[in-house]
Amino acid sequence: MPVNMPAFFIADARGIDFLNSIATPSNEPIDWLQDGAGLVDWLRQAGLVPAQQLDEIVRNAMPGELDRVADQARDLREWFRGFVTGRMGRPLDSGTLEDIAPLNRLLERDEAYGRIVPHEGGHLALEVARRWRSPESLLIPIGEALAHVVVEEDFTHVKACQGPSCTLLFADHTRGRARRWCSMSVCGNRAKVSAHRTRKKNIAEEHHRH
Ligand SMILES: [Zn+2]
Repeated sequence: MPVNMPAFFIADARGIDFLNSIATPSNEPIDWLQDGAGLVDWLRQAGLVPAQQLDEIVRNAMPGELDRVADQARDLREWFRGFVTGRMGRPLDSGTLEDIAPLNRLLERDEAYGRIVPHEGGHLALEVARRWRSPESLLIPIGEALAHVVVEEDFTHVKACQGPSCTLLFADHTRGRARRWCSMSVCGNRAKVSAHRTRKKNIAEEHHRH
């Protein structure tokens, strides 16, 4: 069953949003990739697979096949979480290439091809398309998003939200690199409220002592 709540897309990088497809917005952890239907729903929200191809894959999937792909997606997610959380806060170093080998093996399975298509103003453009032969090919655009994180993000500014019980990660692209929260409306506000409460409590205690 897809989760009855939109997934988080706050990371400013799709590959990190993928890590945030499991989160604990209130008390219970929610996994948007808990099964095949969940994976398809998350991919649709993430815009990583064209809707038409997604529908076609769902129509042609054998029973249980999408659930098995979701199992693989969760494994991929937790492997990449280890990679990111073990390195965030400093630039990637030379040891990275060796550790990234599993991701390269996934990318090797891509069946991308180029095709010439009409473009605006009567021009033609070269577009990269992909053969979606099996549900497993749903992992390829995810792998691509992860690869973009590895090659494009400065890991010095990949951060975890400072909310005490929040697990969300993001790439800090703000000008001053001062982003602290997954979102101001969730953890930022919570922190403000609790700081306010502490202040009020201190004032009350102060008052009591006098
Ligand atoms: Zn947070």
